[in-house]
Formats: sequence, structure tokens, C-alpha cells
Amino acid sequence: KTRPLEYRVAQLEALGRFLEEKKQDILEATALDMGKPSFEAYFTEILLCKNELNDTLNNLSHWMKDEHVDKNLVTQLDSAFIRKDPYGVVLIIAPWNYPIHLFLVPLIGAIAAGNCVVIKPSEISKNTEKLVAEMLTCYLDSDCFAVVTAGVEETTRLLENKFDYIFFTGSPSVGRIIMTAAAKHLTPVTLELGGKNPCYVSDTCDVQNVARRVVWGRFFNAGQTCIAPDYVLCSVEMQEKLMPALREAITEYFGSNPRESPDFARIVGDKQFKRVRALLSSGRVAIGGQTDEKERYIAPTVLADVQPSDPAMQEEIFGPILPIVVVANMDEAIDFINARPRPLAIYAFSCDSKVVNQVLERTSSGGFCGNDTLMHVTLTSLPFGGIGNSGLGKYHGKFTFDTFSHHRGCLHRNMGLEAINSPRYPPYTQQKLGL
Ligand code: NAD
Repeated sequence: KTRPLEYRVAQLEALGRFLEEKKQDILEATALDMGKPSFEAYFTEILLCKNELNDTLNNLSHWMKDEHVDKNLVTQLDSAFIRKDPYGVVLIIAPWNYPIHLFLVPLIGAIAAGNCVVIKPSEISKNTEKLVAEMLTCYLDSDCFAVVTAGVEETTRLLENKFDYIFFTGSPSVGRIIMTAAAKHLTPVTLELGGKNPCYVSDTCDVQNVARRVVWGRFFNAGQTCIAPDYVLCSVEMQEKLMPALREAITEYFGSNPRESPDFARIVGDKQFKRVRALLSSGRVAIGGQTDEKERYIAPTVLADVQPSDPAMQEEIFGPILPIVVVANMDEAIDFINARPRPLAIYAFSCDSKVVNQVLERTSSGGFCGNDTLMHVTLTSLPFGGIGNSGLGKYHGKFTFDTFSHHRGCLHRNMGLEAINSPRYPPYTQQKLGL
């Protein structure tokens, strides 16, 4: 049922209607869940999803086509091609930080590739979970697409079932649980995980612009972004210069009291709030540092002179805190990065493109962005995914379609010209061996 192009297009168009007609509900649900500012919700949960949807609708008939490949002498009269087969039933498990985007973008590719899908949104972003459970299924064919609301216990049981593909976005620790469960059925997985994304700032850069771009990327969604710059590596002189520029950018974006800004989000839950607040004890609070447990508010905070052994450097921050770790030079920054698990993103700022290229060349990460933060995620033409501890597999644009397609190698032979085949049949004479 899910195989014909027309069916896939109809379901994708229905997803487009869901985004359009439920736009206001999405903005309200994400505001209730984590005080997500309307612009941030609109940009990430709606606009980026629509981009993916349009890209897929514009290219799907082309992507679905058999890909004809090179042949050898013996197969000249045959047809050799790659068929893009659906896997079957796909399970998508999503986290809470971009609670629509992170199931919808994989869902677009899973539908485009002709699969049936079970969607498991996060139970932590509960208002969005409710919206998805109640409304999404009204748009999609219920024979083939289902939403399961589940906490840890129910998801554990859900994972006992045999799926044909599992697409998981979340933390590396839960990623291991997912992969273990998938291994029982030899189910292929994509794991979109997290980690600490370093941001190297060289001594030669436009400090004001660096500050504006880093502050935007770090404090977007109150720091609850998997590709947010997690910490800055720079010289002690650059730390000095950067601090007033960071303060200026924070004030420009959120005013003198960010707590009153409609453009600054809250931490999603009490447990997460306590975890992030505990990281404030690292280094010296140079900017911000205020918290309010009732509101789950943590001010945009910059920590100076943070040591690698401090709590803020032991785990992904996933909150509005930016530690600065001082290094002597670029080589030391690169050594620092390479001594740790491979991150989802690396950022490098410099007016000297050789410096940016050196960081790119001598490190490894899921993605990379020179002289900005987060922006590489906006291109559907770039693969998005981690490496090592930050994940396995890639998606966005055609990469999502390919992720959810089994590339079936096919050879359709011509029944005639049997003489061409006789050299491979027994008896294997000396002549056939070329002796
Ligand atoms: P999480 O791993 O706690 O939860 C993700 C999903 O897994 C949720 O749907 C949850 O219900 C489920 N889950 C949790 N524990 C489980 C268990 N024991 N067994 C089965 N399922 C379980 O992650 P989170 O707190 O929702 O999200 C934050 C993490 O996700 C961060 O590490 C962040 O970097 C990462 N993340 C990665 C990306 C990416 O694209 N790579 C995007 C967003 C978030």
C-alpha cells in the first residue's frame, strides 16, 4: 500500500497540511513545554520541516527511480540497477528539545521511502506529545502510521518487538540501550546522539561577530540544542576580549533582564533544571548565573577560566551555560578536542581561513561549521549525523530517503545468448582455466 509514488506524495502533503493547520497549536504546546519562543519554534519546528518536505516532494520521483549501474562484458545485454526498497516498519524515537522537528524530519524520509512508521515522541515534552498523539494521526493513513505515547517502561516493551529499522534521537547512554535491543532482531539503526561540541576561537577574528554568533547558538532554546556550541576554547587574551562582547550580545538579544525576555526559553523539567544548575559551580561566573527553580529559569551564563576537571566539562551541558576553557594556541585546542569523544559538531572561528581549515583537517566530528554556529543544519544538501559517541548514520534531504531505503542490488539477465555463459559452467577444463 505504501509503495506507489502517489500514496507517498499524498501522505507527505498531509504532513504539510498538519504543519500549516496546526501551526498555532505547535507554537502553544512548545511554549508550554519549555517556554520556547515563538520565532524559535516557528523556525525549527515548522520552517525547517517545510523545507525538508518541499525538497522531498520536489525530488521524490527522481530519488525513487532505479539507478542503473556500470556493467561488465558478460552482462552487456542485461539490466543492472539499484532498486530503492522500503525496509518495512520503521520505529522513530524522538527527544523533547525539538519535539516536532526531530520525529517529523525522519518521518518525511521514512514515508518518502515507502515505509510504515511507528512514532514515539518524548514523554517529557508532554504538551507536544499530546498534540502529536491526538492530531497527527488524523492527517495520516492509520493503517500504516501510528503514534505511541510511552515512557521508559513502555518503550522498553515496545523495543521487544521486531522492527525493520529503528531511528533514534537522544542521549548516547539511551542510544546504547536502543542498539542492544535492536541487535536481538538484527534491526538496522540510525542513532542521532549528543555530546560536547567544542568551539575554537582564534586570536585573529572579529570579536563582536564571533560573540553574536556564539551567543545565538548557545542560548537558542536556552541551550537545549544537540549541536549547540558546548564550550569555547581560546587564549587567555581572547577570553578577555570576548567577555564584554558576549555580554553585549546577550543584552542586545535578551535585554538587561533575560528573565523578562519573550525570546529566552526555560529548562524543560525539574530534573533537567537541577542537573544544569549544578554545573554553575565550575570556574568563575563572569556573566549571568541567576536561577529560579519555580520558573525553571537559568540566565544566559558565561563561565570563565573553567578547568577540564570541572563538572561543566564532564557532561553535555544542554542548558544556557557557556564555559570558556583557556588554551595556549590552536594546536593545544586541537589536542584538547582529539583527547575527547568525537562530537556532533565542531565550530572554529578565525579571519584566517587556514586556521579554520586546520581545525577541520585535524579533528573528527559529525558536522563542522566555520565562522558560525548551528547554521550547517539548515542545508538539506548536507548530511546530518554523528560519529563515534555522537551517533551512527545520517539524514536530511536525500540522505533521509537513502537512510530509510534498502539499496537492493538487482541484475535482470537476458535469457538469450547462452553461449556467453558456457565458460562458467562445469566441466572446468584446462582451457577454461586459461592453462
Ligand atoms: P533521552 O535519550 O533521555 O530520550 C530520548 C528518547 O528515548 C525519548 O523518547 C525517551 O522516552 C526514550 N528513552 C529514554 N530512556 C529510555 C530507555 N531506558 N529505554 C528506551 N527508551 C528510552 O534524550 P533526551 O533527554 O530526550 O534528549 C537529550 C539528548 O538528545 C541530548 O544528549 C542531545 O544531545 C540529544 N539530541 C541529539 C540530537 C541529534 O540530532 N543528534 C537532537 C536532539 C537531541
